[in-house]
Amino acid sequence: SKKPVRVAVTGAAGQIGYALLFRIASGEMLGKDQPVILQLLEIPDEKAQNALKGVIMELEDCAFPLLAGIEAHSDPMTAFKDTDFALLVGARPRGPGMERSDLLAANAQIFTVQGKALNAVASRNVKVLVVGNPANTNAYIAMKSAPDLPAKNFTAMLRLDHNRAASQIAAKTGKAVADIEKLAVWGNHSPTMYADYRYATIGGQSVKAMINDEQWNREVFLPTVGKRGAAIIAARGLSSAASAANAAIDHMRDWALGTNGKWVTMGIPSKGEYGIPAEVMFGYPVTTENGEYKIVEGLEIDAFSQECINKTLNELLEEQNGVKHLL
Ligand code: NDP
Repeated sequence: SKKPVRVAVTGAAGQIGYALLFRIASGEMLGKDQPVILQLLEIPDEKAQNALKGVIMELEDCAFPLLAGIEAHSDPMTAFKDTDFALLVGARPRGPGMERSDLLAANAQIFTVQGKALNAVASRNVKVLVVGNPANTNAYIAMKSAPDLPAKNFTAMLRLDHNRAASQIAAKTGKAVADIEKLAVWGNHSPTMYADYRYATIGGQSVKAMINDEQWNREVFLPTVGKRGAAIIAARGLSSAASAANAAIDHMRDWALGTNGKWVTMGIPSKGEYGIPAEVMFGYPVTTENGEYKIVEGLEIDAFSQECINKTLNELLEEQNGVKHLL
């Protein structure tokens, strides 16, 4: 049987954590033959640590055959020790009256500390996924704070946007979501993301031709995907958690186990592809194999797509400029 791998999760007692940990422990992320050791991080605050104890009791009570160990931590330097996978979920939510710059600064603080800790103690092959918002910029900060780790090991979650886009296309075309291929989401995990189905196919047929409605693309599809998080908060009174956790599982599973040629979306540090400045943490269509992702290159970018890409890129550059002095 396989040797257990170490999976660190931050914000482990939060909403997303609660929808995430049980699925990692049951083998849905890394495979039904891969034992895992969970290294869970929460803030030192007594309430958070107590909540984490409760979650751990429930994990124990599931008696998951693949769960080879569970650890509770309040310090990233111990939580990230030798970790092979790190899911950075915990982040500072926007409080009442909090300015955007305060939010960026509070998160810059968290992700600088965590980046440094990963740099110091994690496996040199650690795969890092940032879920906590602003996810792309938080991932950028962690990457910049970990100069001894390969930059490519740091990623941000765009998969929820990708899955939301796929689900809207399935509903519009009346086809199965599982049959959609070659969907791409560009840019920031924010309402400015650009979900792009120009190259998408279902059963080999062009989705764009099937829908054949540019007005729907611009006035219904893009706003629906972009504002989906807000729509869920309005309906549920709470932010989406299960779908965010599901996207995190999809992202890590595909990165670790491969997509067999299928396109998925990951937020990754640019090396200049598609004119995005180097190091910007940007959503790109990728395929994965043997634990490595590869950008789908050579796609033509038409005028409308370029406009959308510029908009989401400018937002990201603004966020990154807003934290530069803190790095
Ligand atoms: P959630 O578990 O609901 O959310 C955690 C983070 O994920 C938030 O930043 C949230 O962003 C983000 N997120 C990304 N995508 C989505 C999505 N689609 N839907 C909802 N959220 C999304 O928050 P909780 O408050 O329940 O839990 C956070 C936990 O993190 C707390 O227990 C807290 O103590 C902990 N924490 C831990 C830290 C650490 O380990 N060092 C640091 C900071 C907090 P958004 O705010 O935009 O909703």
